[in-house]
Amino acid sequence: MKKSYRCWTEIDLDALRGNLAWIRHHVGKDVKVITVVKADAYGHGLKQIAALLMQSGTDVFGVANLAEAAAIRSVGKGWPILMLGACLPEEVEVAIRDQVMATLSSLAEAEAFSKKAVALGTTARVHVKIDTGMGRLGALPFNARALIDTVRNLPGLALVGIYTHYSSVEGKASFSRKQRQLFQSLLEDAQLDLSEIEFLHVNNSGGVLFEPESTYNTVRPGLLVYGLIPKSTRAIPNSIAERLRPALSWKCRIGLVKTVPVGHALSYGGMFVTRRETRVAAITAGYGDGFLRAGSGRARVLVNGKLCPVLGRVTMDQMLIDVTQVKRAVAGDEVVLIGKQGGGEIKAHDLADWCGTIAWEVLTNINYRVPRLYRGEHAA
Ligand SMILES: *Cc1c(COP(=O)(O)O)cnc(C)c1O
Repeated sequence: MKKSYRCWTEIDLDALRGNLAWIRHHVGKDVKVITVVKADAYGHGLKQIAALLMQSGTDVFGVANLAEAAAIRSVGKGWPILMLGACLPEEVEVAIRDQVMATLSSLAEAEAFSKKAVALGTTARVHVKIDTGMGRLGALPFNARALIDTVRNLPGLALVGIYTHYSSVEGKASFSRKQRQLFQSLLEDAQLDLSEIEFLHVNNSGGVLFEPESTYNTVRPGLLVYGLIPKSTRAIPNSIAERLRPALSWKCRIGLVKTVPVGHALSYGGMFVTRRETRVAAITAGYGDGFLRAGSGRARVLVNGKLCPVLGRVTMDQMLIDVTQVKRAVAGDEVVLIGKQGGGEIKAHDLADWCGTIAWEVLTNINYRVPRLYRGEHAA
């Protein structure tokens, strides 16, 4: 029997490669790119994506934790890696040994790294983060100068990066402007030779698109690498949308088609009752694969290129869709959850809207039960 799949993703590595090339072109050739590959490369599969990005010449990887850093190291040695999350106290030694650049927000962290690096007889390359308005990691503005000075003066530390993070870059331009100006003024106060700081960075994907003034010498995109443009109230040229290609498609199959009469309740809780005779297909994906249950009664899928609504509650391994309009639909047919089919397309953003969430969550929710199949010239 030919290998068959019930629910899988197809990942177009050529699209990924093209997206990175476009980002480079857009920010300029002297700007370094930290490709963010946290959460299993936004659900695309960390090792394969890391390998592709190494071949495509990324400068740095951005990760959330040391396990992700170790996975990248297992693919290829030597690439700079920045840990975007805070390092837990017991992780400091491993971070230094594995040469993962840490994000420092506090004097306590700086002291811990210094002490450990000295004990190990090495130098830890670190980034200082400043909280200009995100309110998550980072030193508060009035502590920034002291943190930068401390990191420069403590033994065993090399200050290689300074950064901050936008909180609302897809929304209010005025708030981003404040964050940007604050960051710039703190850099000026610090009386550093900025040309000596290898990585000065602010822009995530939204920043790359909407705040070109904060490009500095490095950018830090995630979503754009995977070919998605953050949804925004701010305008960007259409030409950009045309240049990026979503790398991931998500598919499943029709398991069964049956015609049910009017007045028939569908799925758990009987929340949906047919108002006409309906051809219903049970498809082979559910919340156990990471399809958000919030899509119950709201999401749509593609069969034969046509949008078909999800009827009633999404269950663990299956969901029901209305294929009354798709006369040819039969068991075994391919169903698209994200991606293109015939003339139709469902974007990760569409599915996110139907589920009341954001594309980042839709992608990172696709779980281990769903095989990732790689396509394109660079697929192994
Ligand atoms: C996740 C993350 C990014 C990437 O964000 P996108 O919006 O996907 O581009 C950049 N910087 C930090 C600190 C992050 O946590």
